[in-house]
Amino acid sequence: MDLSAYKFWFVVGSQTLYGQDVLDTIDRRGQEMAEKMSQSPLLPWPVIYKATAKSDDEILALVKQANQDDSCAGLITWMHTFSPSKMWIKGLVSLEKPYCHLATQYNREIPYKEIDMDFMNLNQAAHGDREHGFITSRLRAGRKIIAGYWQDPDILAKLGQWMRAAVGAAFSKNLKLVRFGDNMRHVAVTEGDKVEAQIKFGWQVNTWPVGDLVAKFNQVPDEEVDKLIKDYKNKYEVNTENTDAVRYQAKIQLAIEKMLLDEGAVAFTNTFEDLHGMEQLPGLATQDLSAKGYGYGGEGDWKVAALTAIMKAMATGLEGGTGFMEDYTYDLTKGDEISLGAHMLEVCPSFAKDKPKIQVHELGIGGKNPPARLVFEGKAGPAIVVSLVDMGGRFRLICQDIQCLDPVSDMPNLPVARIMWKAMPDLLTGLEAWLLAGGAHHTVLSYALTAGQMEDLAEIWGVEFVHISKDTDLRDLKDRLFLMDLAWKLGR
Ligand code: MN
Repeated sequence: MDLSAYKFWFVVGSQTLYGQDVLDTIDRRGQEMAEKMSQSPLLPWPVIYKATAKSDDEILALVKQANQDDSCAGLITWMHTFSPSKMWIKGLVSLEKPYCHLATQYNREIPYKEIDMDFMNLNQAAHGDREHGFITSRLRAGRKIIAGYWQDPDILAKLGQWMRAAVGAAFSKNLKLVRFGDNMRHVAVTEGDKVEAQIKFGWQVNTWPVGDLVAKFNQVPDEEVDKLIKDYKNKYEVNTENTDAVRYQAKIQLAIEKMLLDEGAVAFTNTFEDLHGMEQLPGLATQDLSAKGYGYGGEGDWKVAALTAIMKAMATGLEGGTGFMEDYTYDLTKGDEISLGAHMLEVCPSFAKDKPKIQVHELGIGGKNPPARLVFEGKAGPAIVVSLVDMGGRFRLICQDIQCLDPVSDMPNLPVARIMWKAMPDLLTGLEAWLLAGGAHHTVLSYALTAGQMEDLAEIWGVEFVHISKDTDLRDLKDRLFLMDLAWKLGR
């Protein structure tokens, strides 16, 4: 899960028409801009100046190199001068990496007293970037466009946002997921086309028998369990006398992680309907793995498990938690409607407001022993909930802005971790929008990421995107969903 090796390539467009002096200046400036931008804390990964592009063979060679280089997470282009775009076609049709067109200019202001035709020829991004925009539109190239001065914080923030989506896509391409058992019986939304998911997102979604996990469990040495229990005690408050149940969770966590490491997997699913040979549903085990960055989906929901791992990767280095969530129940007090989100057990402790407590309680379903789990309240603050659904033939990413709340009341009889929130634009309109779009009950909740990052990810993936925000209008949304259907039917 080491994401620190990623880099973004900066390629500056020009041509040979203006002579070597101009090209040397552009080269120097490209270097300077990449270095300065990389120093900004708003960019989570460095920008590396690669070349000034002057011919189609050169651009194609560069694109091939980018495609081959696993550490290259994306390409950033900018046209310093006019760069005739027919020479970009060969390269752009071959590009397999996320791509951002940064429409900027080296100088912020026009030097009115000194400006002459040499200056005009050197600094003509205003029409160079238009030529570039035309060809990428003509090619229907999925890309991010950012316009503005390259040193401005809002522009760097947009670039940083896109970088997180690009690294999410790179992470996604190599994602392997272990399913313990199948999806929960009869459930529709957790199903989906795993082959299409591999084609589109890169995910390898495969299943392993629960029996293999139980066999692994039986081989976990006691010393490893002792060590993990010590680690639990450092991070969490032990709020139970039932040490056997906690020990069981530690042992199952170690067994799950060994299997994930053996397979090189970063996400997993399980289901309470398929726990043959196990004494408890993994609760604390799943929660602690989730805190370490693994993706998880309950009831066999592999789409949400993969998306959780990807969003955790995208949120690298950011404050605020990211994890698996489920819409559970509402408070429909008129004018003050709020949601209560939780799961049976497996809520990620990165959401916790205070130190989570390890407790042991009956589960009520699944017919197994009472599982140990972490119980806590979620933090207050703005967040998003995101759902990826398979619409049959294509995927749709749905993102809703929410405002998480401090606990509105204590809930002494509710033995699970939970978060309460106000959905945008309000619970009822937001709910109607969510239902219209077909969003699932399982989501990834993130305090760290924004809808903008998810939109950039959807663009890179080439999947439908629905954003439910404070500005959502149901009439507009219906039109948008209709157009998406139509576009798909026309063979998008
Ligand atoms: Mn569930």
